Amino acid sequence: MLRPEKPALGGLAPESLEALLAPLPPFRSRQILTWIYRRVSSFDEMTNLPKALRSDLAARFILYSSAVSACFEDPDGTAKLQITLWDGARIEAVLLSDGGGRKTACLSTQAGCPAGCVFCKTGLLGFRRDLDSAEIVEQFLHLRSKEAEIANIVIMGMGEPLLNLEEVRRALLVFTSPDGLALSPRRITLSTCGIAEGIRELADKGPPVRLALSLTTADEALRERLMPLALTNPLATLKDTLAYYQQRTGRRLTLEAVLLGGINTRPEDADALAAFAGGLEAAVNLIPWNPVDGLSFEGRPLQEPGRRELRTFTAALEKRGLNVTQRFRKGRSIAGACGQLGVVHTERFVPRCPVNSR
Ligand code: SAH
Ligand code: SF4
Repeated sequence: MLRPEKPALGGLAPESLEALLAPLPPFRSRQILTWIYRRVSSFDEMTNLPKALRSDLAARFILYSSAVSACFEDPDGTAKLQITLWDGARIEAVLLSDGGGRKTACLSTQAGCPAGCVFCKTGLLGFRRDLDSAEIVEQFLHLRSKEAEIANIVIMGMGEPLLNLEEVRRALLVFTSPDGLALSPRRITLSTCGIAEGIRELADKGPPVRLALSLTTADEALRERLMPLALTNPLATLKDTLAYYQQRTGRRLTLEAVLLGGINTRPEDADALAAFAGGLEAAVNLIPWNPVDGLSFEGRPLQEPGRRELRTFTAALEKRGLNVTQRFRKGRSIAGACGQLGVVHTERFVPRCPVNSR
């Protein structure tokens, strides 16, 4: 497929939109942006623009470069959108709701992922391409057509954001700019498998979003076997970089550990995790592994941790003085939970909500 002939306005930064629409006066560009942020489906819905301008815009531009191709809803309130990009690549974006009804958008940054972590569906898919900043912003806009009020963003969907940092930073600037979506950087969390150089660059250039490191385990040899990029990002370097991030941004960190039954829940993993966390202001977020068919580790199929295993490991961390939370298992019936994105949808997965496309 070729790039669309007309440029899409949807995911542009406010200043780029203004430049593209010149010589239209800036107030028009702001009006158009307001409509886009309400996720209208056509220029005709922009009722405070003169009719002639609406048809002129429709002749020169399209609204969004991507389209929602399917929507799935879990009874627990999670919704997952499957989004098709202009070149046919498919990505997914998820809307999570917490107990109090607050909504969080979980966004993808790459189609597939080159990092190859053994426990992750997206890693199993391999890598197709980086998303551009507009494709990242459009995911948020598409989710907004399901829910206007989204309080938080987590960059935890498909892909490794720090391997696509330039475009991710551009999208973060749209999310946080007062002329853009005006979200506080405190409401945005970026999760990385641990690319030291990228963490440093984000610390230096901002915006100062919250950072989560997918530590998985602080047993270095085991980590290298589970996450290939650990080989070039040693734990000592990662820890220095996290301290630097914390010092530059003043933000508290999250250490995420996906728990693989019988693999990284040993007492020595609790010791190593506590040693790694020492000196950092960090909370530990445990994510019981979400099942994905076909994933194995050194010839053995991966397993969810047992209930008792989970309890014992949590207690071991707490005994070592760590602040531990457990991630809710949301969206599992629609393969929308952590690490499940990219699952091919068969008859088990029937779209459950109407799609409001372009
Ligand atoms: N690439 C980034 C962000 C996307 S992955 C990163 O790795 O941090 C988001 C989170 O899902 C990571 O913490 C990862 O460890 C976790 N994860 C991956 N596969 C999982 C699975 N099958 N079950 C539970 N969590 C998983
Ligand atoms: Fe990529 Fe994150 Fe999955 Fe690892 S866990 S393969 S970095 S998406």
